[in-house]
Amino acid sequence: MGEEVEESIDGLRQSFRTGRTRSVAWRKSQLGSIVRLVSENEEKIFSALYQDLGKHPVECYRDELGVVLKSAAYALRNLDKWVAPKKGNLPLLFFPARGQVIPEPLGVVLVISSWNFPISLALDPVIGAISAGNAVVLKPSELAPACSAFLAEHVPLYLDTKAVKVVEGGVDMGERLLRQRWDKIFFTGGPKGGQIVMSAAARYLTPVTLELGGKCPTILDTLSDAYDVKIMVKRIAGGKWGPCCGQACIGVDYILVERKFSATLIELLRRTIKKFYGENPQSSKSICRIVNRDHFERLKSMLKDPAVADSIKFGGSMDEEILFIEPTILLDPPLDSELMMSEIFGPLLPIITVDNIQESIEFINSRPKPLAIYAFTKNEAFKQRIIKETSSGSITFNDVMVQFVCDELPFGGVGQSGFGRYHGKYSFDTFSHEKAVMRRGFFPELEPRYPPWNDFKLRF
Ligand code: NAD
Repeated sequence: MGEEVEESIDGLRQSFRTGRTRSVAWRKSQLGSIVRLVSENEEKIFSALYQDLGKHPVECYRDELGVVLKSAAYALRNLDKWVAPKKGNLPLLFFPARGQVIPEPLGVVLVISSWNFPISLALDPVIGAISAGNAVVLKPSELAPACSAFLAEHVPLYLDTKAVKVVEGGVDMGERLLRQRWDKIFFTGGPKGGQIVMSAAARYLTPVTLELGGKCPTILDTLSDAYDVKIMVKRIAGGKWGPCCGQACIGVDYILVERKFSATLIELLRRTIKKFYGENPQSSKSICRIVNRDHFERLKSMLKDPAVADSIKFGGSMDEEILFIEPTILLDPPLDSELMMSEIFGPLLPIITVDNIQESIEFINSRPKPLAIYAFTKNEAFKQRIIKETSSGSITFNDVMVQFVCDELPFGGVGQSGFGRYHGKYSFDTFSHEKAVMRRGFFPELEPRYPPWNDFKLRF
């Protein structure tokens, strides 16, 4: 949109005011168009994701196209139910009034997304915004330029250009957009960006949803069954290095395990990495690249600290030319190192040992609230302790990352990992206002509610 950003937003506002986006028919047609946009352009999306991140088509389908198609289909199936007014059961005092809760669209909303899942994290919130009947501006991340260009070119070919716009650009454009008046801002990104969004939103008291990140811990209880251990290790390796090579907000950031199990764990992870990516992961087509040189340098510098470098038990090699970092396992790196203080967002996997796995609760609670906690355990009492004594966006037992694709569960953070939630009906709610409607008649009339006040009215 370039120079005409502000006019375009005005245009969207005018469209919204005409009621264009409110009809269920419009919403359904737009959701159908998103399905067509994705399914008719599979090869182009695969190619854009390969250019930006080296994603394999299977990974693209699982984490991006498939997610969007599933969300759109879910919204299409449920939209009639979601938009229907809900009855409010009023107490006798209001008889014979009727109460209703009616979801109404918020207006013109801004979606700012990140680069690691540049298609799904852009279109998934847009699905929520459209389902709820809003006009939308989407700003994809400049760090996934091929995907951003794909969206900018194809969204207008499929969606209603009077109500849905894509604005490409980086921080400057993000700041420019944040200076405008919005009815909601939905932001996916880092905590620093989240702070900027919140302070900009304060100017117009705009509600925000912040989908941020952080360090997601994975607790490994000692499992006695060899089959369970095998599945656990596969799921951890698949979750750590599978989706975008660890560049995932809900990826496994670090593992907490009892000391006695650490050597076995490292060996099992090592074997699984070889099985997944071969003897030379650098030539594997099944592992993504680091998004750019800045992030490559950021990850490289995490390993610079000699104490951290000493803790590497597997991997550690990198190739700057092709932005490749090998799956890397570290055992007990210093807890005050950058690696353990910031979100890793890459293929480095620290294993932190504890004497007793129950201590992991305290370890997690001494740090910012994570977006996700994972725990592999069969111990019900321990599961209950983790649920009750920790705080996080979500907890998944005996698996990792799969909660993201479950539309029936809310997805979002708490504390430093963000606030608000989306997916399925939660997306619809996130982009709606629940308006209370009360319908009264003129009879009966309660006189004691009016002055002049007297003792009788006090006792009434
Ligand atoms: P980022 O905050 O650098 O950028 C996110 C988006 O915000 C981009 O579109 C960027 O252009 C824009 N932006 C950046 N600075 C801005 C500013 N000053 N004003 C306006 N817009 C601005 O984050 P990123 O590097 O794209 O993503 C990585 C972070 O996002 C990680 O912390 C990760 O955990 C988090 N993340 C969270 C989720 C989630 O669903 N919770 C998903 C993916 C990534």
